[in-house]
Amino acid sequence: MQTFSGVGVAPGRVLGPVRQMPKPVQEPAAWLQGAVNMPADVTVESQGQRIKDAAKAVQAELRARAATASGEGKEVLEATALMAADPMLVKSAIKLLSPDAPGGARTAERAIWEAGATVADSLKALGGYMAERVADVLDVRARIVSELRGLPAPGIPTSDVPFILAAEDLAPADTATLDPAKVIALVTSSGGPQSHTAILARALGLPAIVAAPGVDEIGDGTEIYIDGAAGTITVDPGEELRLAAKAWATQASTVTAFNGSNEMADGFRIPLLANVGTGADAVKAADAGAEGVGLLRTEFCFLDRDDEPTVEEQIAAYGAVFAAFPGKKVVVRTLDAGADKPLPFLTNADEPNPALGVRGYRTDLTSPGVLERQLKAIAAAEANNQAEVWVMAPMISTAEEAAHFAVLCSAAGLKIPGVMVEVPSAALTAATLLREVSFASLGTNDLTQYTMAADRQLGPLAALNDPWQPAVLRLVKLTVGGAAAANAGGTARPVGVCGEAAADPALAVVLVGLGVTTLSMSARALAAVSAVLATVTIAHAQKLAAAALSAPSASAARQTVRAQLPILDELGL
Ligand code: PEP
Ligand code: MG
Repeated sequence: MQTFSGVGVAPGRVLGPVRQMPKPVQEPAAWLQGAVNMPADVTVESQGQRIKDAAKAVQAELRARAATASGEGKEVLEATALMAADPMLVKSAIKLLSPDAPGGARTAERAIWEAGATVADSLKALGGYMAERVADVLDVRARIVSELRGLPAPGIPTSDVPFILAAEDLAPADTATLDPAKVIALVTSSGGPQSHTAILARALGLPAIVAAPGVDEIGDGTEIYIDGAAGTITVDPGEELRLAAKAWATQASTVTAFNGSNEMADGFRIPLLANVGTGADAVKAADAGAEGVGLLRTEFCFLDRDDEPTVEEQIAAYGAVFAAFPGKKVVVRTLDAGADKPLPFLTNADEPNPALGVRGYRTDLTSPGVLERQLKAIAAAEANNQAEVWVMAPMISTAEEAAHFAVLCSAAGLKIPGVMVEVPSAALTAATLLREVSFASLGTNDLTQYTMAADRQLGPLAALNDPWQPAVLRLVKLTVGGAAAANAGGTARPVGVCGEAAADPALAVVLVGLGVTTLSMSARALAAVSAVLATVTIAHAQKLAAAALSAPSASAARQTVRAQLPILDELGL
């Protein structure tokens, strides 16, 4: 049996046929018609007809897919189908086939490529709603080029039967159109365990493995078995693994519900909150029993925007989340643009090292006013709703930044300011820094990448990028200790975790043992985390935390703790 191994990012044991994600469309070469020995039947007319036929085929395919899709995926497909039906793209491409075109005649593939770029540029220049269509036009262009080349269309493949999606990596936009009824698991050859693609896969509740070299070469239709907790993939699995997948499906069905109030074995309360990106996510999280929102990633509301959303648009977006949690806590994070979440109105695409660049709270230095307008919108949305709104800034590094953020919050009328602790300097100086604000939330995804100096998106660095790293756990402990020192004689400053570490049931036990007071995660993880915490007392969690802290490596920490939590195996987690 051939096996592959990678980094498990979402548990689950499933078996099914592989469908490969088509490789990204390469830019057609710039050679011109007539520049080489051209077959006699390649004429401007014949090439123009090929472009028209390809555009029609793309339209028909997108319409057919939109008809059977639902929710966000349907909207994306409908918008793209509309763009494919727009004659402007095809007409401008046909003009470029002519020997009279500036620069000479292009091939059909090259003509549609260049025409797509021109249409995209003009939409971008128009700004507003039109600028938001740039991604659609570039997607249509890629689809037409694939059609002309006789290759499978880019994007999630379609299939009549459920399948395991294999890819080199997935863009967050691809994951948005993924239908969990069809795609039963995800495996990628690159990508990091804390990349936003992994985060979205977890949000969809799909077993997933990243950084497994070679899986993007497994033939379409090959049956594979994946164990999302162990990070292993087996090709042509035997009867034993078929039974393991069946057994997991039965176990998994026993941990699908969370009762909305998390308690440990001794009654110790650790509220479980949800990470959300939109109002629709918030509704799902509330239905899943989340006790509030521990992280509203506001940049997720506006990832497709080239320009700053208006205050009114922001009020509507945040209000939709608050409305799902009346009387409950909702922690809003101000825009965290940069690195793998660029927002053109805030970040500079030419920075040499974007993870260390002007990102998160730092964009206030280069785009003053955006943060104030956002805080104003959050305050207005709070006034329209009953949620208890807490606000925090991402990528805070110093006490001065924390103090300035608190001043801005107060000026906007927001009463509970806090900070993300995701830069090691913030953890190391937590006692000073937390005197300036009311709470902290540990962003273990970035805290891990910055502690280990390992880009969270890179597959080869996945082992370093592991929140079980004892160095990361020590910074969590320092933050909790710093908050206790800042609290001395005054109001408590709670420290939660909203990084992906909180969604790993074994690590959640360790975090609680280290003293964090809330855990926030994808709504899908709530049931599993609560099922495991329910079997552990706080004293036991503290013991496991001490063992993890003194382990010699991330894998030793994980193994030591997992070995003492038999419930994980029982539940297939
Ligand atoms: C984190 O860094 O852990 C975090 C929660 O923020 P994001 O994943 O959005 O960077
Ligand atoms: Mg972060």
